[in-house]
Amino acid sequence: MSQEPYYRDTWAEINLSNIDFNIKQLRKHLKEETGIYAVVKANGYGHGDIQVAEQALESGADRLAVSLLDEAIKLRRAGMTCPILVMGWIRPEDAVVASEYDVAITVFQKEWFEQVETEKLKNPLNIHMKWDTGMGRIGIRTTEEMDAILNEIKKHPFFKLDAIFTHFATADEEDTSYYEEQERRLEELVNHLQKVWPEDVDIHSGNSAASMRFPDRMKQFIRFGISMYGLYPSGDVKKERPIELQPAFSLNSRLIHVKKVGPGESLSYGATYTTSETEWIGTVPVGYADGWIRKLQGFEVLVDGKRHPIVGRICMDQFMIRLDQEYSLGSKVTLIGKQNQEEVHMDDVAEHLETINYEIPCTISYRVPRMYIKHGHIVEVENSL
Ligand SMILES: *Cc1c(COP(=O)(O)O)cnc(C)c1O
Repeated sequence: MSQEPYYRDTWAEINLSNIDFNIKQLRKHLKEETGIYAVVKANGYGHGDIQVAEQALESGADRLAVSLLDEAIKLRRAGMTCPILVMGWIRPEDAVVASEYDVAITVFQKEWFEQVETEKLKNPLNIHMKWDTGMGRIGIRTTEEMDAILNEIKKHPFFKLDAIFTHFATADEEDTSYYEEQERRLEELVNHLQKVWPEDVDIHSGNSAASMRFPDRMKQFIRFGISMYGLYPSGDVKKERPIELQPAFSLNSRLIHVKKVGPGESLSYGATYTTSETEWIGTVPVGYADGWIRKLQGFEVLVDGKRHPIVGRICMDQFMIRLDQEYSLGSKVTLIGKQNQEEVHMDDVAEHLETINYEIPCTISYRVPRMYIKHGHIVEVENSL
């Protein structure tokens, strides 16, 4: 356990016990034979990739998935020995590096194989063929493309077809018709593969939404991202609540200045806020460089278990709030999370910003130290500065 010191009054808490809870909730619903990829791309959706990966594997996840080869290598260097998949495109010239780190990669273009420096390969290259069944992002769309890639794979003994996979575009929506169309296309491609490829190949398709809503329809593996972190993939799924989830991320700070301001005084850049009476104003040392972006002006944070509005423009490193009374310096400010009975949920932040919850923790920057909590105790503090 490491506890890197930090010297500011702002920190994120990541509750690893909640990640454990969320994985176990899903595990209870999945078929016994369905394995779990814990998706820890983008620094574990801002929660910390290594810490989340370790917890996920301990809690019943079997494998890890990321978007970039660099992210996979970071996990390997941290000592992760389980299978790791890069779900995004990698450059053919980097295939050798992927094989050296025993990282499985995603391939969907026949031309890709021509540029791999096969003479440098010393280890097998585990390939997951991506199928585009309706996401329209990356992946093969026809059986001809599939055949062409299978043909390339046959050309080198180190090319190993590990799995095929697809990604759903609308699994989080109440209307399941497009989702079902994608499943139908997946079945078509699977039928073709089984005719032309003699070996067993794993299939993985479900994201959080699909795996929670349709656990019985899942294949050999699912890829569990947002809901591992305790967030529902959409309002529709939140309403449906296929399983219970506990958010893992909270964001906290402290009042570093409290003052009484008379009526008619203006605050912050642009002087956009003017007091209408005598008001207590608190300063919070968090700003847009921490990922607390300027559009959050007018949103609320918690002090003493009560909501207080952000007034005036959010600066790079600080913002002001209007307090309902005087509070002492050092009073805890919760930007995301609970205080007593009151809660500012990640979904509230997302709603204010007219975006999805996924985007919020990813945006909380490297400047905010991450404190890891397990069974109510601090088990690690990471300061990326
Ligand atoms: C990010 C990602 C996932 C995880 O999706 P969630 O909705 O967060 O569960 C799964 N598969 C792919 C290909 C992804 O890019």
